[in-house]
Amino acid sequence: MTDSSATPSRPWLDATLPVEERVDLLMARMTLAEKVGQTHQVANIDPDADAEAIRAGRLSSSLYASGATGGNERDEGVLVGNIDAAQRHAVEGSRLGIPILFGRDVIHGHRTVAPIPLGLAASFDTDVAEAVGEIAAREAAVDGVAWTFTPMVDISEEPRWGRVAESLGETPVLSGRLAASIVRGFQGDDPSDADRIAACAKHFAGYGLAAGGRDYDTVSVGENTLRNLHLRPFKAAVDAGVHTVMAAFNDVDGTPMHAHEHLIREVLKGEWGFDGVVVADWNGIGQIVFQGVAADDREAAALAIRAGVDLDMVSGAYLAHLEDLVESGEVDLALVDDAVRRVLRLKFRLGLFERPYAARPGAANAPTPETRAVALRAARAAHVLVKNAGVLPLDPHADAGTGTGTGTGKVLLSGPFVDEGEALLGTWTLDGRGEDVVTPASALRERLGDRLDVSDGRFSDRTLQQARRADRTVLLLGEHPSRSGEANSVTDIRLPHGQLDVLRAVAGLGKPVVAVVYTGRPLDLSEVLDLSDAVVVVWHPGVEAGNALASVLFGEVEPHGRLPMTFPLTTGHIPTSTHQRPTGRLIRADVDLDEGRYLDALTYARLPFGFGLSYTTVEYGAPVVSSPTVARDGSVTVTVTVTNTGERPCREVVQLYFRDPVAQVTRPLVELTDWALVDLAPGQARDVTFDVRAEQFAYAGRDLCARVDEGEIVLLTGPDSARLQSTSITVRTDS
Ligand code: BGC
Repeated sequence: MTDSSATPSRPWLDATLPVEERVDLLMARMTLAEKVGQTHQVANIDPDADAEAIRAGRLSSSLYASGATGGNERDEGVLVGNIDAAQRHAVEGSRLGIPILFGRDVIHGHRTVAPIPLGLAASFDTDVAEAVGEIAAREAAVDGVAWTFTPMVDISEEPRWGRVAESLGETPVLSGRLAASIVRGFQGDDPSDADRIAACAKHFAGYGLAAGGRDYDTVSVGENTLRNLHLRPFKAAVDAGVHTVMAAFNDVDGTPMHAHEHLIREVLKGEWGFDGVVVADWNGIGQIVFQGVAADDREAAALAIRAGVDLDMVSGAYLAHLEDLVESGEVDLALVDDAVRRVLRLKFRLGLFERPYAARPGAANAPTPETRAVALRAARAAHVLVKNAGVLPLDPHADAGTGTGTGTGKVLLSGPFVDEGEALLGTWTLDGRGEDVVTPASALRERLGDRLDVSDGRFSDRTLQQARRADRTVLLLGEHPSRSGEANSVTDIRLPHGQLDVLRAVAGLGKPVVAVVYTGRPLDLSEVLDLSDAVVVVWHPGVEAGNALASVLFGEVEPHGRLPMTFPLTTGHIPTSTHQRPTGRLIRADVDLDEGRYLDALTYARLPFGFGLSYTTVEYGAPVVSSPTVARDGSVTVTVTVTNTGERPCREVVQLYFRDPVAQVTRPLVELTDWALVDLAPGQARDVTFDVRAEQFAYAGRDLCARVDEGEIVLLTGPDSARLQSTSITVRTDS
């Protein structure tokens, strides 16, 4: 049993004391070796082999827990068994009884896998994001996990980069708000709640700018762009109380992020007041040597601790060298103390000293109807309808007979995703299981019975014969999850080889074709859009993939997702993004004045940021402001009337952008600043009002300080970033 009550020898166990006092009491008893132990995270804990190190206080945290044989953590009870066994050595066997912090990449669900983060971003729904975080935290906590490495908030405007799948898209406001919701979902109000775990905003900073979209590549960016774009979602996560931040693998203008004292120590910890833990990325401290900025691990350790990296993920450089670096006077003890204080502060805040073991030992952890309902809601919200030439929704009851009827008739479901559970889960799924997935084949069979025919989508005469017999074909196209995520960059964002051949052949039959696109990144969908009658982008949707798809295809729910990243016209158009800045030749997004554009293409984007259709039509009025001027510390309202002019209900994502025509530095042609999810019945009109504070127009000027200028601001509203109507206000200096 744990001794959770304070004793004279362990006064820090008194849970009634303030956290900082408990940290002081504990640190006063720690040797330098024990302190350094608190800065060391191992890759994979083995309760037997690591027993001695744990008991000696030489290990603070662990990522995986496969145990001695490298056994399968997915086997029921292995993960929690190893975690609790290792914890017992720490709590009962070490001199000070400091519990181990178990982290894990619980990225978009633990057992109940929800859509990949880019799909969650397509929901534009902060409640959905929070709910997904909450169920993931609860399931992970059952397995003894106290910390996850999500959300990833790297601004992602580079579809060749595989990690965009893990991101929340290309805009700082959407990424920041969703990140804050995910953090709330995981951490709750009280981080010591047994059902909550710590979150981690990653990767700080600039990782989304890796050259050419090649993972881990170098980053050349100035601090102004960092502040006006890339740092903003991190700031939002910090403001939401995220307990940890992970450093990025890349350098920024020549300085490896794990050695970036200015951005980590001065900006994140100093300017923003972040008092949580900065964790290295996997061997990120060791990599400083490969980046050619330190001669060896010892020098790398010195650079990283000075920069403000508190916990060394797996490199071992801190464990091997920090003691010596302090004793030799090369590293100030105060730097190590600060790192240790942050780690211990987190352990106290999480209630680990009171509750070091898994919350409910032996509890079953499979998806339940309740967690599935959250995953289904999220997967549905992630579906983005990007084309519909009148073929959707399908009518499951009607029979098209020999092709003369209007109903669905016989449907061929074809493609690599029809019945493959694992392929629907998405990148970074450590604990989800293929057998938990409701596949498209099973969900459509439930609705269509023997009017459904299924093929694996390999191009064969058989598929074509099946398509000939059917009245319509639903083709499940796209990328396998192993093509997205970490270290999975591509040079070509067209569909994988062969899939277009199938589409061309099936479309050639002249019967309706619905293309469903599974992907972890924006793809070049030009030909898919041209050849198909309807196209739905569904990302990698998780355990409720089939149910979500069927409910959208059959109109049981209205599609309402919106693209969180621009889909470029072709690979050659990358980068494309909504926050493109004006050049000397391109001055307005809606006026084609750009002489610098490519000769062989008129525009950059095939599908703009924020785009998505529903099964009805919605008309937007012009935006109306409550006042033509606003004080720098004041606010105005912007109202837009939206009218459902069709015959079905819808959930509209009403979007508000702005442009600052004259500033100290070039500012985006349009920048998303707010949005509202609005339900409209057929024929219904609603006034949607946004409160806009002048501080929403703030940006870092030439001196890198935040400023709100006086002068004109253009406000734009509409259904996506390309169909906007505008009005103007003037920001005044007086209040
Ligand atoms: C990734 C991180 C991840 C870590 C731990 C790294 O390679 O960049 O995002 O959290 O591994 O698995």
